Amino acid sequence: MKINYHIHTSYSGDMILEGRLSETPEKYILAAIEKGFDEICFTDHVVIGRQKNEYPYDYAMDAERIPEYVREIKALAKKYPNIKIRIGIELDWLPEHINEAKAFIKKFPFDCVLGSVHVFDGYKTENVVPEKIEAFWSGKPEEEIYARHVAYYRALQDLAKSGIFDVIAHLDAINRDGYVPKKSFWPLIEETIDVIAKAKLCVEINTKGLRKPIKKIHPSPEILALCKKKGIPVTIGTDAHWAREIDLHYEEGINLIRSVGYERLAVFEGRKRSFVKI
Ligand SMILES: [Zn+2]
Ligand SMILES: [Zn+2]
Repeated sequence: MKINYHIHTSYSGDMILEGRLSETPEKYILAAIEKGFDEICFTDHVVIGRQKNEYPYDYAMDAERIPEYVREIKALAKKYPNIKIRIGIELDWLPEHINEAKAFIKKFPFDCVLGSVHVFDGYKTENVVPEKIEAFWSGKPEEEIYARHVAYYRALQDLAKSGIFDVIAHLDAINRDGYVPKKSFWPLIEETIDVIAKAKLCVEINTKGLRKPIKKIHPSPEILALCKKKGIPVTIGTDAHWAREIDLHYEEGINLIRSVGYERLAVFEGRKRSFVKI
């Protein structure tokens, strides 16, 4: 089965900021059909508890449009019965708004909720453009780079323990800007994977990292092998921000999943998990 569980459309704030209004859900569906996908899940950005357009959360969908988003995708699922179309969101981890987030999720018929740490301590996990990456990281002492990685994995553990998500998106995305501490923090990663396993969460293989300065799929082969050892299920997404990215680096992602011994992928309907063969 060919699936993609991480797709952004013109509903996401970052798509609007970049003028990608032509990247509608229907355009992705047509691209997915053309590329032979069996199932896709839309996962536009949602941030609960912040004002719309508030930096650094301006990549999120306008919360008032969520009913329209759900309606449109449901209608498209009827229009294209030969491909399974799921409704999901990529929801930011904001611990101070956890109760609002819980109530929000209950209000809509989501199939899958991805959990992401995009912002913590007021900073974005990734700085996206080279000038911002340089401005943020260059000259930072090794201890500070190390401390940011530690804080990120702690936030990820809290996300996993919250019980409100189905999948952890781009698990090691703190490395996206390409700045990684020299000092090992592997025991913290092991601890994090244990928390994820205990929380019965699924981990996403996100191929977008290949397009970032780090030039690696998330998570790394070492982390993914540990996920396999701990019995954590996986799903896959290209984190598409253009319809043409529906299958970008998809094969590399599948090869990585296979290389550590996985034979099946998790899929979601009404937030219930089942499995399909790769
Ligand atoms: Zn993300
Ligand atoms: Zn995303």
